[in-house]
Amino acid sequence: MQDYDAIVIGAGVGGSNVAAALTAAGMRCLIIEAGRYRSRQDYPRGELDGNAQLFWNGGMELNTSATLALLRARVVGGGSIVNQALLDEFDDIALDDWRERTGITWFSTAGMAPLYAEAKASVSIQQVPVEHANRNARIFKQGFENCGFQCKPLQRGQSGCRHEEGNDCIECLYGCRLDSKQATPLTSLQRALKAGAKLLTECEVEAIAEQAGFSEVHARLADGRPVSFRCNSLILAAGTLGSNALLLKSGWQDRLPALGQGFYCHPQFMYFARYREPVDAQRGPFQSYKSDDAGFRQQGFKLENVFAPPIGTALMLPGLGLGHQRQMALMRHFACIEVAVRDSHPGSLHLSGQGRLQINKELNSEDRQRAKAGYAAVERIFRSTGAEQIHSGRFGIGLHLMGGLRLARRPEEGCVEGNFRLFGSRRVYAADASVFPSAPGINPSLTIMALARKAAAHILEDAR
Ligand SMILES: Cc1cc2nc3c(=O)[nH]c(=O)nc-3n(C[C@H](O)[C@H](O)[C@H](O)COP(=O)(O)OP(=O)(O)OC[C@H]3O[C@@H](n4cnc5c(N)ncnc54)[C@H](O)[C@@H]3O)c2cc1C
Repeated sequence: MQDYDAIVIGAGVGGSNVAAALTAAGMRCLIIEAGRYRSRQDYPRGELDGNAQLFWNGGMELNTSATLALLRARVVGGGSIVNQALLDEFDDIALDDWRERTGITWFSTAGMAPLYAEAKASVSIQQVPVEHANRNARIFKQGFENCGFQCKPLQRGQSGCRHEEGNDCIECLYGCRLDSKQATPLTSLQRALKAGAKLLTECEVEAIAEQAGFSEVHARLADGRPVSFRCNSLILAAGTLGSNALLLKSGWQDRLPALGQGFYCHPQFMYFARYREPVDAQRGPFQSYKSDDAGFRQQGFKLENVFAPPIGTALMLPGLGLGHQRQMALMRHFACIEVAVRDSHPGSLHLSGQGRLQINKELNSEDRQRAKAGYAAVERIFRSTGAEQIHSGRFGIGLHLMGGLRLARRPEEGCVEGNFRLFGSRRVYAADASVFPSAPGINPSLTIMALARKAAAHILEDAR
């Protein structure tokens, strides 16, 4: 059994950032990642291959009622490889709620400012250049103006998407072949590896255990061989579903009564509108604007101008047979807007009798109302810009998976103390989106990066 100062499970957003900070401080770190290492030369090119090769369970996991499709990456870099790289700070509404729930006083704009500054300094952030906005984005902006809503350009972790050369960024949902997107293998993970961290890929952790004086990790390599490691500090960063599943499989529910409770996912609903002239939403920057409307925030939703590749669009468009085929033939004429709900009603994560992760997550009447209010705004935007027909995506999508190991004051309310250590544990921590106490209603990645830094500071302090 090999020994390390720290083992980080998961090389995604949280894991890469915590590993970079721990390694920089001199810890001997091992990062274990279930997915493969990929680079710009070998990202899958097609949508089908992208889903099959870069995501857990072929691209989609469903809640128990099969009304929500949840997506989580399985690749070195985790969500940072497949995400849209929008980096946003939380506002007072989100942070005040977190402070109230957890008693953590630095959950405030001032308290988070240095953490956000550090996280932002570690990546290149650019405003998506509006001069390259495609027609999908221009319809979004025009509709906002027509209806008196507020929107603003997106801030994205990118270093140069070369839109002037005609790049179509919809492709980078399966990895950015320009190395513009600031995925962790180009940023924090690279820093960790340069400073001496070891990365073990295609190795799935199956169980963890805490003994007197050390923690154990039991994992399996791609060829089926079991491997085990020992460490002083063990950091769960396997993403919300991964970290929860790991603790459930390792039998920690007796130690952590709130394990798996408080699961949120910002349910998103995509709406497609058909226009007489081609929209060509697949061209140019994938997205350029988002809503920035106080009224929307108060009503618990936000809007983003997005699109989906053809297989995703086909799944979401209603109808069957010839009617569906005719709609798909008009795909170039579709604009798309997504409603993302700030979900107030949490779900929960469990293991089935067969040991599979079960995701209980529904929208309650409050959250359905939020989604409905979002759709009312989308409909106004589309109608005001001359849409001929509007289609509603057939199911909700969860891309921001959060909670289950919530930061909390007491073990009855969550699993993680203010120092990111699991309640009752001496050396096991969590540093990914699973620690979110509630749904912020804002893109989570920048805050995951910021919290991972805070977690690292506590881990180092404990180790000393
Ligand atoms: C399509 C899409 C678009 C998105 N767009 C945005 C956006 O624009 N802005 C934004 O802020 N957020 C966005 N997100 C969400 C964001 O990517 C996630 O919130 C973020 O990646 C979560 O970080 P994390 O550290 O919790 O987990 P992840 O980044 O998912 O990392 C977890 C890692 O752990 C690995 N792992 C899991 N289980 C095990 C195990 N047992 N053993 C070993 N390794 C394991 C996984 O393979 C994965 O690599 C998007 C997500 C998706 C899917």
